[in-house]
Amino acid sequence: MVTRAEYAARHFGPGSADAGSPVVLTWREQWLVVRRGEDVIHTLRAVEVEPAAKGFNNAQLALEWFADEVRHMLILDGPVALAFRQACPPALQHRLQPVAAAQQSTERRFRWGIVVLAFLALLPLAALGLAIAFADPLAAWAVDRIPPGVEAKIGESVLAQTQAESKLITEGPAYEAVQAIGRRLAGGEENLRFFVADRPEVNAFAAPGGVVVIQAGLLRRADSPEEVAGVLAHEIAHVELRHGLRQMVKAAGVRMLFALVLGDYGQMAGWGAQLTELKFSRDAEREADARGLARLARAEIDPAGLGRFFAKLEATPSAGAALPAVLSTHPATAERMAALEAALAQMPPATIQPLAIDWAAVRAALGEPQT
Ligand SMILES: [Zn+2]
Repeated sequence: MVTRAEYAARHFGPGSADAGSPVVLTWREQWLVVRRGEDVIHTLRAVEVEPAAKGFNNAQLALEWFADEVRHMLILDGPVALAFRQACPPALQHRLQPVAAAQQSTERRFRWGIVVLAFLALLPLAALGLAIAFADPLAAWAVDRIPPGVEAKIGESVLAQTQAESKLITEGPAYEAVQAIGRRLAGGEENLRFFVADRPEVNAFAAPGGVVVIQAGLLRRADSPEEVAGVLAHEIAHVELRHGLRQMVKAAGVRMLFALVLGDYGQMAGWGAQLTELKFSRDAEREADARGLARLARAEIDPAGLGRFFAKLEATPSAGAALPAVLSTHPATAERMAALEAALAQMPPATIQPLAIDWAAVRAALGEPQT
């Protein structure tokens, strides 16, 4: 006795359920035998049936024929259809070729579809990786494209924010002193403007566009106008080197790039408010120190004031207060102080014109911080 392979299928047609009735198929030479349970319900010649690919992804094999002008159909599911196709007689085999081809190409398309889907799913991750890897060059690229007009707008927004948060001192010895120091440092650069905020923190910052803000707390801690000049020269250097802008671009990331591309500079100005909390890299600090020293020398201001002020803050933090704010964003590390001293030692002897400011009068006018 020969055991024949059996193939499960569903039969559609007279005598079958709407969703098809389960049947079993076997090949006997050229004959296809269709059984429902023990009953043979059809016996067909291979040449009688019309094959077609059906179903999702063409994975199913359909075999159609007409008996007494009534349509019958058998549906074989994917894996069964494959085995059935391989076992069928040559007469049907070659007619199944187009069906097999259709199934294979759909399968290929489906696989490509999965590859494309996987790629799309991974794309944000890849973009993120690229953004991290190229954050610095990207930020530099973007910053190079920010027009000076936008810098000015950011500066205005920072000034507006400062005015909203604290009172500005606009007259008196402290104001006059800062204006005098500022004039010397600016050396005719009209974009540089100097403001004194009536705040107790030891802090100063400069915004893009040349808005330089010094807080009363820093003036109280300074022992000479040269120390204040040093801090301001350093802050101006950060602006000239566009360090703040670069940090803003990096922090805002893709949104900033879009704003740049779309020319939406108003939004960028809003981000300027973060400037006072920006922390720069050691390289950026070194660069700003060197440039600040050069500006001090050009202005004929004793360049030693910068290092002296930072070293003093580091050595004697203000009573009760945590780290002075200016130190938290510009740490006076031993490395930085050593670099500053080395740079000072290498500077050619400069003409120094003392800043003729009555510093005691400035301190007296400011009084003690209001707590
Ligand atoms: Zn700095």
